[in-house]
Amino acid sequence: MEIETIELPGDVPGNSIELRVLRFEGADSDAVSAYLQSSLHGSELPGQAALHFLIPMLEKAETEGRVVGRITVVPQANPIGSAQWQAHQHLGRFDYFSGVNFNRSFPLLDTFDTSALPDIDAPKSLAERLKAQLLRLALPHEIVLDLHCDDESENYLYIHQAFLPEMYDLASALGSTAILSWDSTADAAFEEACAHPALQLPEGERKARAVTTVEFRGLNDVNFATGKADAEGLYRFLVHRGVLKDDTIRLNVDFAGPVTPLENVEMIRAPQGGMILFHVDIGTEVRAGDRLVTVVTNPGDPGGDITLTAPQAGRVLTRRGHRYTRRGDDLMKLLGNKRSETARPGSLEA
Ligand SMILES: [Zn+2]
Repeated sequence: MEIETIELPGDVPGNSIELRVLRFEGADSDAVSAYLQSSLHGSELPGQAALHFLIPMLEKAETEGRVVGRITVVPQANPIGSAQWQAHQHLGRFDYFSGVNFNRSFPLLDTFDTSALPDIDAPKSLAERLKAQLLRLALPHEIVLDLHCDDESENYLYIHQAFLPEMYDLASALGSTAILSWDSTADAAFEEACAHPALQLPEGERKARAVTTVEFRGLNDVNFATGKADAEGLYRFLVHRGVLKDDTIRLNVDFAGPVTPLENVEMIRAPQGGMILFHVDIGTEVRAGDRLVTVVTNPGDPGGDITLTAPQAGRVLTRRGHRYTRRGDDLMKLLGNKRSETARPGSLEA
């Protein structure tokens, strides 16, 4: 394993960040290669735990001559976000200077030529230069896995429709319970920027690729058990795709969960601000009209309670982690079988 430290100068003198890049040189330069990163949103750590346990597995494979394709790992993809705290709270999701989500506004390229992207010392903001640098690292690989998490959540994936059903193998390897499929590039998340040039390829070449945002459950699901299990899931997938060789691994592609277009996701929103009391946990199958959540607007007065019900039957995929909401904020994601009447174009809040 080679460790490269890429230093990006800050926007004012005396500041800089370091990107730690771990590289495994594959034995076969024609083999499928893989890029994995975590914590593009600085406070999202389940993926970082998975990579923490995956890296020793990759080192062992390298020692035993079983790394076939090139692998690049960036366990901490956003040192800006990792350092972004306010009043003792870790934020890490939006650039302080511009207010832009760290997982939005990536450049969309039509080819894999990254020469037009801003250099690490270009006259651009640090966040823009970091995004360009992450794309430069990721785009030379056929497999790109961007590891995120939701608030309180099942383990699920965002996948462009063009990579389905081939990528059911990833869902099977990771034990994901659902896939959210998308086909628009309105907000240019990292995944979209990595998928964009791949989508211009002929179908045969495109289908050999795998680009995704992995949502490894919720913000607090950071522990030894899930970290190790997720590392094993990533390892199984890399073996299955031929990046690693391991004769002891046989992946059964048995994903049977819902594949839900984004427009079928019911985003349950708070009509007013107040305390949140959930009626159902994540993973619950509900019927249309079932109670989902009550917003308490006037504590002590049941007359102020607003109870939201399921607009259609479906599965509760996520809940917010906090218990006090502002008017209009998202409270839950419900996976429906038909288009949501309140569907918005573009991505959700990955
Ligand atoms: Zn995220």
